[in-house]
Amino acid sequence: MKTALWYPYAQHKTMSTPLKVKKAEGCIITLEDDSQLIDAISSWWCTIHGYSDKQLIQAAHNQNQKFSHIMLGGLTHYPAELCAQKLVDITPNGLNHVFFSDSGSVGVEVAYKMAVQYWKNKGQSNKTTFIALKNAYHGDTTGAMALTDPDEGMHTLFNGALIKHHFIDINNNFENTLKQLCENQNQTIAGFICEPILQGAGGMQLLNPATLRKAKEICDQYNILTIYDEVFTGFGRTGTVFASEQIGITPDIMVLGKGLTGGFIGLAATMATSNIFNAFYHDDYSKAFMHGPTFMGNPTACAVALESITLFYKRNYLSAIQKIESILTKELKTISHSKIKNIRIKGAMACIEVFNESQLKGIEEFAQENGVFLRPFNRFLYTTPAYIISEQELLKICSVIKKFFQLF
Ligand SMILES: *Cc1c(COP(=O)(O)O)cnc(C)c1O
Repeated sequence: MKTALWYPYAQHKTMSTPLKVKKAEGCIITLEDDSQLIDAISSWWCTIHGYSDKQLIQAAHNQNQKFSHIMLGGLTHYPAELCAQKLVDITPNGLNHVFFSDSGSVGVEVAYKMAVQYWKNKGQSNKTTFIALKNAYHGDTTGAMALTDPDEGMHTLFNGALIKHHFIDINNNFENTLKQLCENQNQTIAGFICEPILQGAGGMQLLNPATLRKAKEICDQYNILTIYDEVFTGFGRTGTVFASEQIGITPDIMVLGKGLTGGFIGLAATMATSNIFNAFYHDDYSKAFMHGPTFMGNPTACAVALESITLFYKRNYLSAIQKIESILTKELKTISHSKIKNIRIKGAMACIEVFNESQLKGIEEFAQENGVFLRPFNRFLYTTPAYIISEQELLKICSVIKKFFQLF
């Protein structure tokens, strides 16, 4: 396909023609030929309210009528101020400051720079590297790519062009390895970053909260900051509003994106504790945080995020997520097939891992013929539905998955 529009992670020569969307509402995507698909993955797990939510549209419209964008340099506005305060109110205790940006990857870059400058401001300019986890995914920009698993992640080919960090396996002698690393190299390590509880694009891997609690303890002991990338897990995906709650600790820095606006429009937030913020608070201007994207705190995005958060609570999504989890568990957890290596279910996420990628060949077309939109990556077939999905729609997704493995 030679087209003006260049698609993501796509080999244009061999790719199948993308499905052309005419309309998307709730969990239903309507294509140009009027056929309809139930969306099983919520546009890379971000559209938590489904598509075209009337309330979000109204919130965007109301703000657009006043002004759709204005910079935060020398100016400010209620949507950004109120959204920041709202995030402080609902996130784990102690995350009192919010730096906005426009995408999850940039939110991670901000966390990265914040951690490095934090130590620099404290007179420790050698603390510039990070510890990250095997199977981690933190985004597509260079700083974030460097924190993504260099062997199994999607950025292996850029290895030579990226800063080298320390990657460790949470399932293999983790505590000792982390301790050793911290002990030997704490003079050069700024922080430890992970996706708490659930690693997303690295294969929907579940992490043990007790292990992450231990990691925080060790990092604290050696003066290494803890950064949680909740771009995927934030806003309910793992069954609590934030995955951090299941670990029971407040990270030094936390990143939110994707579901922050209910997938309506790009917005990310990098949140920090007062301890972090105060290291930048100084009479000396050179201690100020050196970052400021043009579209940071975009008023329309912030107004939509505020409405999205309000709806999250008003619609009692946590109980909807619990219901989704129980349906996914009942329908999928016990299926077994020689192709299936492992099945993982957590909150509003189910992942079926097969032994090798070729075993999922044809699933997208098969799902489409059966009225469902699925799009696995590598060996991972997953569903991350919108929280407003009906029981009937969810059962349909599960039945298509089971049918693919000929379990009916
Ligand atoms: C999607 C994702 C990102 C990157 O967000 P973008 O908005 O795509 O830049 C970062 N971290 C995690 C955990 C993600 O799932």
